[in-house]
Order: sequence, then C-alpha cells, then structure tokens
Amino acid sequence: MSRVLISGASIAGPALAYWLNRHGFEVTVVEKAAAIRGGGYPIDIRGTALEVVRRMGVRDALAKAHVDSRRISFLGPDGGLIRALDPQTLTGGVEGRDLEVRRGDLTEILYGTVRDDVEFLFGDSIATLDDRADGVEVTLRGGTRRVFDLVVGADGLHSHTRGLVFGPEERFHRYLGYCFAGFTMPNHLGLSHEAVMWNVPGRAAALYAVGDGATVHGFLNFSRDEPPFHAFREPAAQRDLVASVFAGDGWEVPRLVAAMRSADDLFFDVVSQIRMPRWSSGRVALVGDAAHAPSFLTGQGTSLALVGAYTLARELAAGRDHVAAFEAYERRTRGFVEMNQALVSAGDAALFPRTPEALARRDGMLRGLTALSSGGRPEHSAITLD
Ligand SMILES: Cc1cc2nc3c(=O)[nH]c(=O)nc-3n(C[C@H](O)[C@H](O)[C@H](O)COP(=O)(O)OP(=O)(O)OC[C@H]3O[C@@H](n4cnc5c(N)ncnc54)[C@H](O)[C@@H]3O)c2cc1C
Repeated sequence: MSRVLISGASIAGPALAYWLNRHGFEVTVVEKAAAIRGGGYPIDIRGTALEVVRRMGVRDALAKAHVDSRRISFLGPDGGLIRALDPQTLTGGVEGRDLEVRRGDLTEILYGTVRDDVEFLFGDSIATLDDRADGVEVTLRGGTRRVFDLVVGADGLHSHTRGLVFGPEERFHRYLGYCFAGFTMPNHLGLSHEAVMWNVPGRAAALYAVGDGATVHGFLNFSRDEPPFHAFREPAAQRDLVASVFAGDGWEVPRLVAAMRSADDLFFDVVSQIRMPRWSSGRVALVGDAAHAPSFLTGQGTSLALVGAYTLARELAAGRDHVAAFEAYERRTRGFVEMNQALVSAGDAALFPRTPEALARRDGMLRGLTALSSGGRPEHSAITLD
C-alpha cells in the first residue's frame, strides 16, 4: 500500500502529501491549475491546526507571513460607524498565537515542504477512476493511465473526485442562503491592516486591506433563497446579478460594483457547506473542503483541512488496511469537523444579518461587546493529535 494519488494542490493536498511522504508513501499530486496559485484572501490557522503546522516545521515561516489585521469597522447603511473592533473579538481568535496568512502564502509554504520529494503534475486532472480490488486505475485528462493503491480528493468545495466516486454535489451540498463575489480593487480609502464592513438587511459589502498596499480585497455578499445555478457557467451573468442586487445602494458600494464589473480576478460562489455520511468509498477518500467544507462563515476551512490531512496520513501509516485506516480517520475527525461546521450560525448572525430585526440585534451586540475573548473557541481545539 504505497502509491497514493492526491487530486488538488492547495492546502489539504500539499499537507497530506507532506505527511504521507514522511510516512514513506510514494505520492503524486495532480493539480488542474498550471502552477501553485499565489495571492488570494487571508485565511486563519487556529487551535489544533497550529500544532499540525508546528510539526511540519513551518510555523515560523507562517508567523513571518502573518498579516496582522488590527481592526474591523462595521458601518451602517449610510456609512456611519457602528463599532470598530479587534477582529479577534469576533472570531474567537487568540492574539499572538493564531495565524492569519494569505491563502497563496500558505500554499507556497506547504508546497515548499514537499516539492522536491513528491511528484506534482500541474495542468492536469483525473478523467476517469476505476476502483478495483487491487488498485485504482486512473486516466488523466492529459492521456496518462496509471494505477495507484489509493486516491485522495483534496480538490475543494466543488470536488471533482467526489463527483466521480460519490455522485453529484447536490447530494452533499448544504446551501447556506448566500452568494458572494470577491475581487481585488484599488485601495482608494487608504486602508491599512483592517477591514470595513457595510451592512443593510440581506446585503453586505466589505473592503479588506491585508497590509497597507495599493490594492484591497472587495467582497459583495447577498442573501438569496435558491442558488443562482444559471450564473455559475456564465461570468457575465454573475456580474449582472451582483450589480442588480446592489443597484442603488449607498456608501462605497457603487465603487465596489464598478470594480467587480471590470475585475480580472472575480471569484463568484455560493456560501455552502459539504456534509457527507462517509468520506471514503473503496480505495478513494476525501480530505479538506472536498469532504466537509465548513464555509468561510466559520473561518475554519483551512484548519480543518490541515488537521484532516495530518490524521488521514497518520491512520494510513498505522499499518492497517485502507478500509480500517479510512474508518479510523473519519472516527477521529468527524466530531471535530461537525462542531466547527456548527459555528456557521455565529458567523452568519455577526456578518450577514438578513432582516432589519437581525441587523438591529447584531448592531446592539457589537455596541455591547467589551472583553476580548481569551483562550480561543473550544471548537478550534476540540481534537488532540497523536
Ligand atoms: C472568500 C473566502 C474566504 C475564506 N476565508 C477563510 C478564512 O478566513 N479562514 C479559513 O480557514 N478558511 C477560509 N476560507 C476557506 C478556505 O479557503 C478553504 O476552506 C480551504 O482553502 C480548503 O482547502 P482545500 O485544500 O481543502 O481546498 P481548496 O483550497 O479549495 O483547493 C482545492 C484545490 O484543488 C484544485 N482542483 C479543483 N478541481 C480539480 C481537479 N478537477 N483536478 C485537479 N485539481 C483540482 C484547485 O485548483 C485547488 O488548488 C475562505 C474561502 C473563501 C472562498
């Protein structure tokens, strides 16, 4: 049991590759992008996941890449300040311990731990999988055909591996009632290490300055009862939909909409979770968002991906057959995953109130917040590593 193919080279994929390689497996990673993707929004590493990156020897490198967001300011419909807070107050993060890094920086650092020891196939992806008793025969889109002992899908919320082995995404997709557009735009407000968030019921606009550079991340988030399936295949329809939802709104929203319209890095998606009764089938397993995306409302997707990768590799290395190892991986991590997926309602209520009443409650809560949370949320550390 030594040859493993991993689909996806973002966070879960390279982390799993690292641990499997350390345990003596022969690892190949196939990534559909032409190279490791840099840049991107900031993500958090908290709780038990901090111990995973420490054991990987990259905690210091990540600490150097820490973006140190100092403030989040909540604004009312006219742009007036409701309350400015230390972001940790809301997220339950721990100042001086938790890490926040650009997604691309994390991916680069993880990739750096295995790039010389593991085979990476960029610009390719799995076309077919034949899961047989003695191995998985895989055909890549580029035409290569190879046999692996195991295949792991680390290919994200819309996992292609999951679709091939477990069936259509709709079966596992739990839509949380929001869509969002993310893009970069000029930092015309001169923001520095901070986020500003504007809310009206059901709509939110945010600007996030990771440092004090010339660009910021813009986000337009809106509630919608059904996912806009028609827009997923058509970028022009996505831009039209977002622009129509925010038409006539105040504050800086017209500027965000104009930037969204012309952005060359627009990222449009639903806010959703993945909930599956099982994360493996035969010789194929899933890890990270592919198995159990918690949504960015929890801020825990990255931490779950890191802990899951560590645990899966450890169980596979324990010398049992793959069926027992996959079961043990799931038994050990499922409770942790579900507790963190349940954090979504807190993120929901704090960031994206849908009704005037919910918004008024949220604003009241923000005005009343006093103490900083101290030790972090228990959910972030609700698993102990072997
Ligand atoms: C706007 C936004 C903000 C977020 N904020 C936070 C946050 O603050 N904190 C946090 O912890 N998390 C956050 N997240 C979530 C976080 O990004 C994910 O949970 C995390 O990236 C999961 O990692 P992953 O490796 O499982 O999947 P992904 O990062 O989605 O990576 C999947 C990889 O698979 C590749 N791939 C896809 N299809 C194929 C295919 N067919 N063949 C080969 N490769 C393929 C992709 O190119 C990609 O490299 C946020 C997400 C978004 C969208």
